[in-house]
Amino acid sequence: MTKKQLTALSVFVEADLSRRQYEIVRSTSQKLYPSYSILQKAKSDCYPPKESYEVTETCAQINLQELLNHTTIRLLTYLKDVLCELRPDECNSLNLFCKWGCDGSQQAQFKQTMENDATDSNIFQSSFVPLRLVFGAKTIWQNPTPSSPRYCRPIRIRFVKETVNITQEEIRYVENSISTLQNTIFLMENKSYSVKHTMVDAKVCNAATQTTSTMRCYICGATSKEFNDLTIKKDVDADALSFGLSTLHARIRLFESILHLLYKLTVKKWQLRSDGDKAIVKERKQIIQEKFRRETGLIVDVPKTGFENTNNCITSRRFFANPELAAEITEVDFNLIYRLKVILEVLTSGHKIHLHKFADYGLDTAKLYVSLYRWHPMTPTMHKIVVHGATVIDKALLSIGLLSEEAAEARHFRLYRQNFARKFSRPKCNADIINRVLLSSNPLITGMRPIPPKKHFHLQGKQFL
Ligand SMILES: [Zn+2]
Repeated sequence: MTKKQLTALSVFVEADLSRRQYEIVRSTSQKLYPSYSILQKAKSDCYPPKESYEVTETCAQINLQELLNHTTIRLLTYLKDVLCELRPDECNSLNLFCKWGCDGSQQAQFKQTMENDATDSNIFQSSFVPLRLVFGAKTIWQNPTPSSPRYCRPIRIRFVKETVNITQEEIRYVENSISTLQNTIFLMENKSYSVKHTMVDAKVCNAATQTTSTMRCYICGATSKEFNDLTIKKDVDADALSFGLSTLHARIRLFESILHLLYKLTVKKWQLRSDGDKAIVKERKQIIQEKFRRETGLIVDVPKTGFENTNNCITSRRFFANPELAAEITEVDFNLIYRLKVILEVLTSGHKIHLHKFADYGLDTAKLYVSLYRWHPMTPTMHKIVVHGATVIDKALLSIGLLSEEAAEARHFRLYRQNFARKFSRPKCNADIINRVLLSSNPLITGMRPIPPKKHFHLQGKQFL
């Protein structure tokens, strides 16, 4: 691929252009933009070999080994200038770290009939994000934005609703593929490269917490009743720390922590025993939900245990995006909401975090919470983040932002389906979708994009990044 083709392809992908739009842009400068047919050829270089695809009415999947080979080769090509400095023995002991995960999301339904009464209103997908290319302790490449979808590679996309069974099935499928992985071997400019693959599960922590009592902290073993007593110092389970933190779920869970708290603000009791208290809380819940709907157009609800609440996923993002409005609607302390927002932003930033400052900030946040709401224990997630956050980041294999699940979540499937897929045939439509995802996450193209700058939060003169 020439530089010109690559630039044109990058514009095509970044601007989400259709063929027609591209041709209009090209008509302004034929010198700058190659013809659409040349662009198409360049596009096809961005896909793994045809044999590695399996596409049906309800599913599009790519053989993991082939996808990793393709991704690795693209990455090595992108890093050509850096790699030529390496010695031959170094070229043969490279290691690529990736995180993988799976998640479901809701989709706009198309009016196409499907086999076996399958529904296309839900998409469940597994994907991976390359995080770091290393040899020994030396990092050659690091994903500059591990929480963004830009490097997120689709393994399998299915049109099914997320359930516990589907999730377990998907985990088995990916783990099976991982267990047989072999090194990627690649020859570039007379040098041979061998890259080993290390896949880290982005969701293990979540799965691990679900197997035990949800009201207990899996790191120190403290129970809900002990969370608000900051003088208790418990021993930390070193094995549990390697699970890391799931930041996507952290955002939803922190939001839900606030919901549980705010419904009970008038009665100031954690457990409701009298019918009178229950009625008061129920009424307040309705008032707050109505207020949310009026002011933000969002529907909030307390989730049933064990299931993700899709509304809360979107709502939690908006909630922490505007702490002033959030505090006004909920009557929960503004500083507390703002501090939680800062913590979430730091965790998902993907930048290196100053551990001591983060630990102090977490502890101050815990103290603030307890001083305001001693009568309502923190939720396990809030406890884990404000009390153990820094320790987890320190001990986890990869830094916290690198393990964020947001990358997998934020894909614009809806846009891809509406704009870039042939809708007359279901399998072709599914193939188009997975190809579009592959194109926009290609390391060669995505590497050309500028990296988003760090955000700065100034609160009591502290900076974390
Ligand atoms: Zn704990």
